[in-house]
Amino acid sequence: MAERPLNFYAGPAILPLEVLRQAREELLDFNNNGLSILEISHRSKDYAAVNAAAEADLKEVFSVPDNYRVLFLQGGASLQFGMVPMNFLQGGKADYVNTGAWAKKAIKEAKVFGQVHIAASAEDKNFSYVPDPAGLDLTPDARYVHITSNETISGTQWNRYPDTGDVPLVADMSSDILCRKIPVEKFALIYAGAQKNLGPAGVTVVIIRDDMLELCAEGLTTMLSYRTHAEKDSLYNTPPVFSVYLVGLVLKWIKNQGGLAEIESRNREKAARLYETLDGSDFFRPTAAKKDRSLMNVTFRLPSEELEAKFIAESSGAGMVGLKGHRSVGGIRASIYNAFPPEGVDKLIEFMKNFEKANS
Ligand SMILES: *Cc1c(COP(=O)(O)O)cnc(C)c1O
Repeated sequence: MAERPLNFYAGPAILPLEVLRQAREELLDFNNNGLSILEISHRSKDYAAVNAAAEADLKEVFSVPDNYRVLFLQGGASLQFGMVPMNFLQGGKADYVNTGAWAKKAIKEAKVFGQVHIAASAEDKNFSYVPDPAGLDLTPDARYVHITSNETISGTQWNRYPDTGDVPLVADMSSDILCRKIPVEKFALIYAGAQKNLGPAGVTVVIIRDDMLELCAEGLTTMLSYRTHAEKDSLYNTPPVFSVYLVGLVLKWIKNQGGLAEIESRNREKAARLYETLDGSDFFRPTAAKKDRSLMNVTFRLPSEELEAKFIAESSGAGMVGLKGHRSVGGIRASIYNAFPPEGVDKLIEFMKNFEKANS
C-alpha cells in the first residue's frame, strides 16, 4: 500500500486510521453474521443497534441535553439551508449573520421562504472576522437566528455565541462540530454535514430541541419535515447505513481518545502552534482576525500568488495534500480536523520554515 500522505483536505477530510481499519476489518462480516453492514436490512436488529448507539454516543460526547433529538439525514448541510426555513420561517422573518460563503448560501435559501434580516455582516472586511456576538441587530419577533459557527473557506470561527433570548438559535456547525465543548443548550437546532469532522459524506447530523419539533410547518412533503425523522428515529426511509455506521465508529474513537475535553485540548494545541508560526513570520500572512481564528481551517497567504503555487506544488511533493485554499479565495488553507495528528502540524511547520528560508 502507498504511504498515507498528510491530509489537509477541507472536506471530505481525514478520518482516524483506527476507524478505517476497523471498518475494513468488519466489512465482509459485521457482528458475526457473515454479511456486510452494506447488505443487511436497515430494519434488522444489527442496524437498529448501530443507529441507536450513534445517537446515544453523540449525545454523550457532545453533552446534548435530554430534551434534544439527534437525527441522521441526507442531502448535506446544503439541504439544511433550505429545510430550516421551510420548517420554521413560513413567511415570517429570520435573522441571519453573514460571516462568509456558507452563511451566504444559507441566506439565499431562506429568502425562498420568508424575510431575511441580516443581523450583522463581515463582508466589509472580506469575511476575515466574526461580528461581535453582543452587537447583533436582532429582530425581537424573529422565527430564529442563524449563524455559521465556522466559516470553512475564510477560516473564522465564533468563540462566543450570541444570546438570543427566547428566539431560537440555529447553527451550521458542519466544519467545527465536536472540535470543542460548547453549550449545546444555547441552540434550538444544530446541523452539520458529517464529512468534515464527524465521518464520511452521505449523512447530515441534526440536533434539534423537542419544542422545535412542535413548530415544524404543517403540510410539508414528508421527507422534508423534521418531525417525520424524529418520529421514526431517522428510519422513516432507508438511511445512509454505512455513513451512520462510520459516524458511530468516529464517536467511539473520540471516547477512546479521552472524550471531547482531550480532543479540544489537542485541537487548541495544534492550531496554536500553527498560528504562532504564522505570527512569527513576515513571509506568511494569516488572513483571519486574531480573535476569530478557526481551530479547524487555518488560512494564510504568501507574498505572491506565484509563491503560493510553488508552496502547494512543493508541499505536495513532500507528502502533504489539500493545502490549496478554496478556489473562490485562493491562498493556503490547512484543515486540521480532529483526526489530523499533531505530528502532521509539526511537519507542516518544518516545511514552512524551510520554504520561507529558500524563498525570501
Ligand atoms: C462544507 C460545508 C457546507 C456544505 O456541506 P454539504 O454537505 O456539501 O452540503 C455547509 N456549511 C459549511 C460550514 C461547510 O463547511
